[in-house]
Amino acid sequence: ASLLNAIEMAPRDPILGITEAYNADKNPKKSNLGVGVYYDDNGKLPLLECVRKAEAQLMEKTAPRGYLPIDGLAAYDKAVQDLVFGADSAVVKEKRAITAQAIGGTGALKLGADFLKRFAPDAQVWISDPSWENHRALFESAGFVVNNYPYYDATTKGVNFAGMLDTLKNMPAGSIVLLHACCHNPTGADLTDAQWTQVIEVVTSRGLIPFLDMAYQGFGDGIESDGKVVGLFANAGGPVFVSNSFSKSFSLYGERVGALSIVATSAEEAARVLSQLKRVIRTNYSNPPIHGGQVVATVLATPELRALWEEELAGMRVRIREMRQAFVEKLKAKAPNHHFDFVITQRGMFSYSGLTKEQVTRLREEYSIYAVDTGRICVAALNSGNIDYVVDAVAQVL
Ligand code: PLP
Repeated sequence: ASLLNAIEMAPRDPILGITEAYNADKNPKKSNLGVGVYYDDNGKLPLLECVRKAEAQLMEKTAPRGYLPIDGLAAYDKAVQDLVFGADSAVVKEKRAITAQAIGGTGALKLGADFLKRFAPDAQVWISDPSWENHRALFESAGFVVNNYPYYDATTKGVNFAGMLDTLKNMPAGSIVLLHACCHNPTGADLTDAQWTQVIEVVTSRGLIPFLDMAYQGFGDGIESDGKVVGLFANAGGPVFVSNSFSKSFSLYGERVGALSIVATSAEEAARVLSQLKRVIRTNYSNPPIHGGQVVATVLATPELRALWEEELAGMRVRIREMRQAFVEKLKAKAPNHHFDFVITQRGMFSYSGLTKEQVTRLREEYSIYAVDTGRICVAALNSGNIDYVVDAVAQVL
């Protein structure tokens, strides 16, 4: 047999598979709640006005397309660092953090994983149970053993904090702990400020390496308050790894704009870290693409565009909140014996709705409503046009 002849078919991506099935569905009432994408109230992917304006500006001063530096556009890296840590933060002022443009949040995670594999080859990685389905695969493909720490508690529909903390207290020093900075995917259940304080204390005192993934900054309670935990970790001392993404917050999914930041204990240490991170980037894809980074840098650094972005992001956040509220209230009217109040407290695009696999199957087969088998629904895919249909269907399958 030839080399390729012996290769087996890889399993389908579970989430992308849902979209394929949805696309093939002919029911005009079909709804795709399986995605991880924000749609507006017309069910359309938005092009933000701040992006359109920044692109118009960039078009006017067309420039040749040389290679970017290995770590990306300097203006982008600076703007992202200020956004993630706060322009007035001690880490930024003391130049203890380095930030490199990355190919989306996924690319940032992959850079962080490859970097860590070079310098902490024997460490194990811990991710929440459950977590974004790509976390495990990304770190495993970088060569790590990946474990779960307890996170979601199906009975309380909240966080099993005692279990999480206990696992953190017992993992080997030097373990890499992946944490969702805000808007936990897939559950929507976040830690409280008081719980974060305890996590930071354990992580710091036990010498664990925190890796904060922030793909939804601005979708929870606001840009600053969603990013707060990053600042708290940074102030607790290095090292801290932070991956962030503008896929959702700028609705720039296909431009692949994200960044990896690493907090060190001094400017001198940070410079060495950056030099090594550049080697990781160089051997992955050499240097990132220009356009998306330029758009984000332009918006973040131009006061009026920045204000417009904050307004548009708030609009997305508020609309999701309204859908949470409407979902719960309408369901209360249709199915008074069931309680969904927890959906209102959840943050970000997603809700672990508590729907079982069987209920999800019935929603798909009988109503052409597509959700993830785990019961995860994308609240950002609900809108005034489909919510009544979805609520009616959910009430029928309960
Ligand atoms: N991390 C989490 C928790 C996510 O939910 C996502 C996207 O869904 C990512 C990272 C990846 O972001 P990007 O699409 O920018 O690669």
